[in-house]
Amino acid sequence: MSDCIFCKIANKEIGALVYEDDTVAAFNDLNPQAPVHVLIIPKKHIARISDVTNGEDAALMGHMMVVANKIAAERGIAEGGYRVVANCNEDAGQSVWHIHFHLLGGRQLGWPPG
Ligand code: 5GP
Ligand code: ZN
Repeated sequence: MSDCIFCKIANKEIGALVYEDDTVAAFNDLNPQAPVHVLIIPKKHIARISDVTNGEDAALMGHMMVVANKIAAERGIAEGGYRVVANCNEDAGQSVWHIHFHLLGGRQLGWPPG
């Protein structure tokens, strides 16, 4: 989608990626909420996780999880602990309409989230 900020980041029109493969990209969050705050996105534009309704997209989400784990290990937060979260729609606080997994770590994280 030409007007989607995360599509532009995935296409390397703006910003800087910290990870990329054929189907997934990752980059540091602009407004980090923890010492490690990386966003993992599918290169394919899918607006929200509730739009994941077929096996191909489900496999893509699984691959994003693997990428999150890999980045967590690289950033040294795998053993201490980390959180992977996706906000879906307004009540959850979603503000960018292209699926993204937040990878958060490097400090003690509170639960439940606000
Ligand atoms: P949401 O609120 O949709 O779950 O998360 C959106 C996230 O995207 C926020 O944490 C916000 O800081 C981040 N974000 C929004 N615009 C940009 C941008 O242009 N670049 C980067 N790197 N992060 C962004
Ligand atoms: Zn997009």
